Amino acid sequence: MTTSSTAESTSVVKDGVHYHQFDVVIVGAGGAGMRAAIEAGPGAKTAVITKLYPTRSHTGAAQGGMAAALANVEEDSWEWHTFDTIKGGDYLVDQDAAEILAKEAIDAVIDLENMGLPFNRTPEGKIDQRRFGGHTADHGKTPVRRACYAADRTGHMILQTLFQNCVKLGINFFNEFYALDLITVKDENGDTQVAGVVAYDLATGELHVFHSKAVIFATGGFGKIYKTTSNAHTLTGDGVGIVWRKGLPLEDIEFFQFHPTGLAGLGILLTEGARGEGAILRNASGERFMERYAPTIKDLAPRDIVARCMVKEVLEGRGAGPHKDYVYLDCTHLGAEVLETKLPDITEFARTYLGVDPVVEPVPVMPTAHYAMGGIPTNIKGEVLQANDKIVPGLYAAGECACVSVHGSNRLGTNSLLDINVFGKRSGRNAVEYVQSADFVPLPEDPAAEVREMIEGLRNNTGTERVAVLRKKLQEEMDANAQVFRTEETLTNVMGTIHDLRQRYKNIHVDDKGSRFNTDLLEAVELGFLLDLAEIVAYAARNRKESRGGHMREDFPDRDDENFMQHTMAYLTGDPHSPDPEDHIRLDWKPVVFTKNEKGELNYPPLERKY
Ligand SMILES: Cc1cc2nc3c(=O)[nH]c(=O)nc-3n(C[C@H](O)[C@H](O)[C@H](O)COP(=O)(O)OP(=O)(O)OC[C@H]3O[C@@H](n4cnc5c(N)ncnc54)[C@H](O)[C@@H]3O)c2cc1C
Repeated sequence: MTTSSTAESTSVVKDGVHYHQFDVVIVGAGGAGMRAAIEAGPGAKTAVITKLYPTRSHTGAAQGGMAAALANVEEDSWEWHTFDTIKGGDYLVDQDAAEILAKEAIDAVIDLENMGLPFNRTPEGKIDQRRFGGHTADHGKTPVRRACYAADRTGHMILQTLFQNCVKLGINFFNEFYALDLITVKDENGDTQVAGVVAYDLATGELHVFHSKAVIFATGGFGKIYKTTSNAHTLTGDGVGIVWRKGLPLEDIEFFQFHPTGLAGLGILLTEGARGEGAILRNASGERFMERYAPTIKDLAPRDIVARCMVKEVLEGRGAGPHKDYVYLDCTHLGAEVLETKLPDITEFARTYLGVDPVVEPVPVMPTAHYAMGGIPTNIKGEVLQANDKIVPGLYAAGECACVSVHGSNRLGTNSLLDINVFGKRSGRNAVEYVQSADFVPLPEDPAAEVREMIEGLRNNTGTERVAVLRKKLQEEMDANAQVFRTEETLTNVMGTIHDLRQRYKNIHVDDKGSRFNTDLLEAVELGFLLDLAEIVAYAARNRKESRGGHMREDFPDRDDENFMQHTMAYLTGDPHSPDPEDHIRLDWKPVVFTKNEKGELNYPPLERKY
């Protein structure tokens, strides 16, 4: 059941349900979850629940690097990094959070180095740094080398390093346990309090209640609402969905990032590190088209801009290939040595999946759904909000499932590996501090009741609908209607489809009726989360009648600061099966945080976003 030598063994079984007690329960063992565990473990009785074996988490797929203004190879400063993050996020970034991200980046990299992470080195032995989109010197003047990296396997190295350190600390892992519910209790004022988590053990099908003082969600993203995505199959947004179903808000959920360079037709990622090393995007006639759109930093403009330009090239007939439906990433001038040593994985991906050798020919690419900018709203301590200015005591979130918001409406490359380290650490630290003085909130009578009902409902359903069929339809429709370009009409269309799919979902058939390793059943559960999240994405996107960052409305092509320089806050208020989302989703706003200098002037006033 557990992997560490200090495996917790004090659970009791009541009515077939296992009960455990921990001070801190962390849901998710990616970079954010394990970084939190390293902080929490030594100071509090801590458990990590994870549906995947920790080293299989998506953090391990991250390629290009982690940003920090170390200034190892070029002049740099955390203030420039803050500016780039805010401008890159099209000014929807909370500026206090961005300052923390950029300042604490330096320690975050040193922490990892001290834990044993083998970064690439400069000839004199310092941590090497490469260029990445939107990271510039002196407020946009030229691209700067800010991304620390380990070849194109940076995430793999981070994940392995963090896991080894968790093992060293004797953290309790519950591997292949699916958290399916957050146990909440309302206090006398009607405010939400947290009492723990209910999880399903994949190996046995048994339910486990984790009674805890603090819970940290670190469950990653939900790219699987789309068909063309760089995300792993497991990124179904369970944590975000669980929090949503509890009536807690989600922030800026309409902002999804489409990474420019997915392998055409497949979505598998080729890191932006390739362009950081000098690769160039070209259209069918070989033109370096980014020169036209972003004359200063060209191919290294932020992702939202590059992705839009690529789609525009294709829509205007300058796409390559038999159907003119992709553009090229040209790495041929980098030479075999750079490709084999600094970008070995993506070189192999192109060869394996498209049969194209980047050393001698350009690689067909198109944007791929990559990163959820929105998620569970938190403050800079990692505490989850239940309303704009009110936290849920003891509940934390970090990493891609959270929205701090350091990414605003468009995340810069290499800022997520940074985010998971900085805010994973903060949430772990703050959770430990919290549990020192907090009491356990008493558990309700049968805390596993809702999960049991959901599982049995799905398992015993005699319907005829197939999970894979519904999921495929959802993903195709999201690609067609809520991708790089959106309109009122396309978003309304996809909401209609989602409503139909929800009705069909009630009729779902799960073939496997067993209790051991029933992945069939869990895929049905995950589809439920995907349907919830896709609907909120589309609904919040329709409500934002402007274009900003990753959210491009063809019918409202300009940024509208007067009306929309605010974070969306979405709440579940009724039966999600009602046909009109207006009957079950309430949308509200939260102000963006601006920082000011001693004279009361804005440090980072909104600018036109030229590169
Ligand atoms: C291909 C690819 C390349 C990338 N490259 C970069 C890069 O170079 N630089 C960069 O900054 N960012 C990059 N990113 C983004 C970045 O890697 C991710 O945003 C980040 O790693 C997410 O970390 P996380 O800890 O939040 O979640 P993850 O690493 O996704 O971990 C999620 C964890 O939650 C667990 N979990 C989920 N649901 C449940 C549940 N119901 N019950 C229990 N456990 C659950 C999983 O088991 C897993 O352990 C890349 C992303 C991809 C997909």
